[in-house]
Amino acid sequence: MQASYYRPTRITVDLSAIKENIELHKQKLALGQSIFAVVKADAYGHGVLPVAKAAIEAGAVGFCVATLDEALELRTNGFLEPIIVLGPIDYEGLKLASEYEISIPVVDLDYLDGLIAKVQTLSLSKPLLLHLAIDSGMSRIGIRTKEELHQAEAKISAHSDLLFEGIFTHFSTADQEDDSYFKQQISMFKALLGSLSQQPKYVHVENSATTLWHETLGNIVRLGISMYGLNPSGKALESPITLCPALSLTSALTQVKFVEKGTGIGYGKTYVAQQDEWIGTVPIGYADGFIRKYQGYQVLVNGQLCEIVGRVCMDQMMIRLPEQVALGSKVTIVGRDGQQERTLQDMADYVDTIHYEVACLLSPRIPRVYIEEKR
Ligand SMILES: *Cc1c(COP(=O)(O)O)cnc(C)c1O
Repeated sequence: MQASYYRPTRITVDLSAIKENIELHKQKLALGQSIFAVVKADAYGHGVLPVAKAAIEAGAVGFCVATLDEALELRTNGFLEPIIVLGPIDYEGLKLASEYEISIPVVDLDYLDGLIAKVQTLSLSKPLLLHLAIDSGMSRIGIRTKEELHQAEAKISAHSDLLFEGIFTHFSTADQEDDSYFKQQISMFKALLGSLSQQPKYVHVENSATTLWHETLGNIVRLGISMYGLNPSGKALESPITLCPALSLTSALTQVKFVEKGTGIGYGKTYVAQQDEWIGTVPIGYADGFIRKYQGYQVLVNGQLCEIVGRVCMDQMMIRLPEQVALGSKVTIVGRDGQQERTLQDMADYVDTIHYEVACLLSPRIPRVYIEEKR
């Protein structure tokens, strides 16, 4: 999608916040551990290439992504660091994964059998870098028993085109107060890890929440949400480090008008002016990922909270202003204005979801602008 530059809606990403978050996590690493920056989904909506560059500058040594296409985007833009794809890839992508030295997950034994059959039809010049996914309780992807693990190990070592490079798992409750299921998952993974005849180069189990609130295990940390300065648990657990949010979302008033009491605002006339009011129009809508559920949410103009009135349209929305304000006044949807701050967490709370989803939904139509604020 083409980004729209000729309107004032912008996402501003402070790369120094991302760097600072990485620095803070680096101080928490165990000996021999390093950070792989998780930059899937266009770096959680922050924009993958600038974020990837900042992450490496701050000391990350590799990347994790969700799809082969995301990995190829990094490679073809000059990133030479190790890249791990976390989600299953189609066999059609195996040749590219080998050629570009991109590590891919083994979902289960059936997947591995199909992969081996496919690889035998290809003449690979470099081995495929495989990471065995262990399903320790998330029930998403992965091998679940020691027997399967040993079979997988044997099948991989029987083929010179395959390299057993890594083993990993993912925790489903690392961001929750109750750690009983987490403990079950980690002990299951440890048992499988301990039964390997030889440990691969990379062992990785830690997402942001695991790194912040649990024991360390493995030599790579898959750092996602907290690198962007957001608390993985939302508001459930307090972060032991002070995270700096990197993203802000701003726009400006493209029209300011006086409406008389009783005037309908927006599609369906779901809001009617309660009295004579000042209404501002803001060029952002659900096609930007700012969904209709935000009707009634408050954004900031001149440091004051202003309610979104009427339905959010595809490309625009209207807000109620406390008084007449200048055309072109800044509208802060995420970020600070005066004494007030609106966060991705506030947005998530309002529509009953998590900030991960709010950030990922912000569409490529909104231009991303990068700054490095001095800290
Ligand atoms: C997305 C993802 C991560 C990163 O999680 P955060 O909560 O953002 O740190 C780590 N590991 C896997 C397997 C993932 O899918």
